[in-house]
Amino acid sequence: MNNFRTGYVSIIGRPNVGKSTLLNYMIDQKLSIVSRKPQTTRWNLQGVKTTKSAQIIFIDTPGLQKKPKSALNRHMNRAVTHSLDHIDIVLFVVEGLKWNELDENVIELLKDIPKDKLFLIINKVDKIKDKKQLLSFIDVITKHIEFKEVVPVSAVKGDGLANLESLLTKYLPIAPPLYPDDQITDRNERFFAAEFIREQLILRLSDELPYRLSITIDEFKDDGDIIHIHASIWVETKGQKSIVIGKEGQVLKVVGKSARLELESLYDKKVNLKTWVKVKSKWADSEQALKQFGYYD
Ligand code: GDP
Ligand code: MG
Repeated sequence: MNNFRTGYVSIIGRPNVGKSTLLNYMIDQKLSIVSRKPQTTRWNLQGVKTTKSAQIIFIDTPGLQKKPKSALNRHMNRAVTHSLDHIDIVLFVVEGLKWNELDENVIELLKDIPKDKLFLIINKVDKIKDKKQLLSFIDVITKHIEFKEVVPVSAVKGDGLANLESLLTKYLPIAPPLYPDDQITDRNERFFAAEFIREQLILRLSDELPYRLSITIDEFKDDGDIIHIHASIWVETKGQKSIVIGKEGQVLKVVGKSARLELESLYDKKVNLKTWVKVKSKWADSEQALKQFGYYD
């Protein structure tokens, strides 16, 4: 245990580059919800990976927004900045060959971080046929900012991730573990209940609506055999409410069933899930409503 290493690794980048997918692969458990739509991740979420030689505490963050308009988006950007406090290593995740002004925006945030702590992670290399193209792509980025390591990976296929894990282990400070070795996150079961319901809604609703809904868990009771969960889905208008419920309740039914199955697999227990759809106008623009819904800095 003398050389055991422990530390915090923040996963930063613009929306949709695969930060949450990377976290889930690294800790071998779906913790962070993933979708093709930006703004899926709203919170900082710790995923803890403990091996024989290290405990790596990953922090998945929301994608950095360029000009956050709503209170919710400002909260998400603050979460990204906070994840950089007391950090040992920062993984700046980009998508291979796809560099844009949102990535440049992230670089602004990284300028104050010592080069020693910065890794560039080039994700989605499975999509790139001619890997040689990556060299000039890396050149473009490293002109802006220097990195300790540059690691090409595929977070869906797992390519390069064993290499990433050993590099992280190499650079983390020598320190005893902070979490018991069977603990994989800082979040409790209620948090995942809300997130997995939100994920099913994101998957099934089109366009803007997913950004305008939030989940609260009103009851969470584990009676030993079954976990009973009561959840509210908050939307901003009556029209959104009827879309979420769907014709004859079909949307809500399918969402409830899929979320229940995901939760049963996470908790390894039977789940009885009941959901209600409620209206609270303009909640995403209200700091007060955000607090009430559990968004805090
Ligand atoms: P985040 O917003 O950065 O957290 O991105 P997500 O993890 O939610 O992923 C965004 C989308 O990119 C999802 O549809 C993922 O399945 C996809 N994705 C993530 N990593 C990879 C990868 O390595 N290869 C490919 N082809 N797709 C990926
Ligand atoms: Mg994410």
